[in-house]
Amino acid sequence: MQSQMFTFTKLKQDPRSQARRGRMLTRRGVIETPVFMPVGTQGTVKGILPETLQEIGAQIILGNTYHLFLRPGHELVSQLGGLQKFMHWDGPILTDSGGFQVFSLGALRSITEEGVTFQSHLDGSRHFLSPELSIEVQRTLGADIIMAFDECIPYPAARDYVLESTARSSRWAERCKQAHQPELGAALFGIVQGGMELDLRTRSAEELLEIGFDGYAIGGLSVGEETELMYRIMEHTLPLLPDEKPRYVMGVGTPENLVEGVSRGADMFDCVMPTRNARNGVLFTSFGKISIKQARFRDDSAAIDPTCSCYVCRNYSRAYLRHLYQSNEILASVLNTHHNLHYYLDLMSSIRLALDQGRFSEFSSEFYRQRRAA
Ligand SMILES: [Zn+2]
Repeated sequence: MQSQMFTFTKLKQDPRSQARRGRMLTRRGVIETPVFMPVGTQGTVKGILPETLQEIGAQIILGNTYHLFLRPGHELVSQLGGLQKFMHWDGPILTDSGGFQVFSLGALRSITEEGVTFQSHLDGSRHFLSPELSIEVQRTLGADIIMAFDECIPYPAARDYVLESTARSSRWAERCKQAHQPELGAALFGIVQGGMELDLRTRSAEELLEIGFDGYAIGGLSVGEETELMYRIMEHTLPLLPDEKPRYVMGVGTPENLVEGVSRGADMFDCVMPTRNARNGVLFTSFGKISIKQARFRDDSAAIDPTCSCYVCRNYSRAYLRHLYQSNEILASVLNTHHNLHYYLDLMSSIRLALDQGRFSEFSSEFYRQRRAA
């Protein structure tokens, strides 16, 4: 059984690429795709109010199971009305399974067939996470889209390891499906692994399709591999996934990666890049990235991106933003985050419009032309 309250409709197929325009219906509202999902690791998208997120067009945000499980605890969040109420976000929330963070702990964790024992990065306390517990934690938090618990394989990895890990992730995916309660209305997504091995990506996709999920993600990308290799894995894997289900490329990426991902058939993306880079003074624009720290912006009265319509670009100069950054002011992070997320969300809305109007390839050419012109 799959969730009755979750649907995906493909509205339009681009004739010259794999790009598709779609619409997801979750129990907490509609999501137009392709979509970028801002990351709210600890029950907050760092540096921005939920109202502002809504104003600039965020349709769904991410929560991190690992972080919320350790602090403040999923049961406390549930007692306080669930993650939406706790953080004052009205829209849909997707939670990751915790697998990515747990496996990133390296020496601090050990894997068995049952699950993963790990030490908290906060206080060194020992915890255990299994497929069943991950699903329970995500359900308790109140996620609208729940992700299967899997291992995100590091890069590079020996083929034997990829083989063993991917097979275990498939067995865990089956257990996640068993533990999931579709009658509550949340969707459950499976995650294709297989590292950089094309045949193992195929096998992983086939095994997940056999189990049956509401949507399918591609995990284990943007882990240090070359961009061309990442595109090759997307190109190989995305067409293996059903046309009538949403496809989510996890942890990706740069504006260029989003355009390339869409053209290969991806519908959903998430990445910490716009928010993390903002706090480091790196800003995304239609002509590429800029670092606001640079001395050349000291007396620059122009907006970050003169073609951007966001609140920051309408009201503040590069010189002022550089000053805030150099002075270590909190407002630097707030304004930079606002602009970067606006840029990402606006990029996705332009992509959706181009797909609606049947001119995605023209959009893509113009996107690259502006970057080259800079
Ligand atoms: Zn702006």
